[in-house]
Amino acid sequence: MTRAEHIRALLEDYARQRAANELAQERRYREAIMKAPRIEALRAESASLALNAMRAILDGKSEAERIAIAQSMKARGLAINAEIRGLLKSVGLPENALDMTYRCPKCRDTGYVGEAPARFCECFETRLRLRQYEDGSMAGIDEQNFERFDPDVFPEADGQRKRMLEIRRLCEAYADEFPNFKFRNLVLTGSGGLGKTFLLNCIFERVTSRGFSAVRITAFRMFEAMRQQHVGNDEKFDGFTTLVEAPLLLIDDLGTEPMMRNITVEYLFTLLNERMVNRRHTVIATNLTPPQIKERYGERVASRMLDTSVCLTALFKGKDLRQR
Ligand SMILES: [Zn+2]
Repeated sequence: MTRAEHIRALLEDYARQRAANELAQERRYREAIMKAPRIEALRAESASLALNAMRAILDGKSEAERIAIAQSMKARGLAINAEIRGLLKSVGLPENALDMTYRCPKCRDTGYVGEAPARFCECFETRLRLRQYEDGSMAGIDEQNFERFDPDVFPEADGQRKRMLEIRRLCEAYADEFPNFKFRNLVLTGSGGLGKTFLLNCIFERVTSRGFSAVRITAFRMFEAMRQQHVGNDEKFDGFTTLVEAPLLLIDDLGTEPMMRNITVEYLFTLLNERMVNRRHTVIATNLTPPQIKERYGERVASRMLDTSVCLTALFKGKDLRQR
């Protein structure tokens, strides 16, 4: 299944959920009026209040009269709600029995949050990633998890295998304890071919399989999202806003993206700064050393990326696995 098909199927699932919510509410309502019939009249009166307000406006009443009517209706509305709650309680039902209940109160089971352009809710993103993960359409990811981490591929010489086992332990603890690991951010640094991407994918797999929402992106695609944002085109799902707001963002291969004036450094700063201010979690894999990060992106970006109070830097050293 393609991503678009997953999204369509998931939106249908959300529509079914909303219908189920309404049915459940209807059931609770019927039970309530069976036990306390007066609730039906109160609800009817409550519904007519808004209609009466509309009539007052259409009747051409003065501003002062309209305000007085609105206030008295509001008071009546509150009184009705209080009486309904009292009735529900008196017949042994919860006071909020007639409220709509949602699987996700944040998006009210629409799958979307925010004003236009609305974004997918966290719950939707998580479900989407799980669906994709389950049907294996996220290429390669399903094979890259901590269980498949094989320390024997690393040479024992110079303590490389031992160091990799330590880094693996660290990454696994980060993923298992997310979002409570003692460091919010991880930077996996070192030259290519030492398994950084693999471990980054392992973290992604573990965190999402624990039900958290995470976004994994290559630096190149991140750059694309920045460029789209810069030209005012952030309609796409994997847009810059998504990167800013993901509870966990994993950026692979930082340093391979193009350096474009007014974009790369500026948007990377915005991204890291926003995420820092909002205490979101970020994992970065890069071939750049900390001094190279500083050189490429400048002090402001480097200080946010490598801030030792919230970030743990793991240095990968040793022989390139791809050259063995
Ligand atoms: Zn939601």
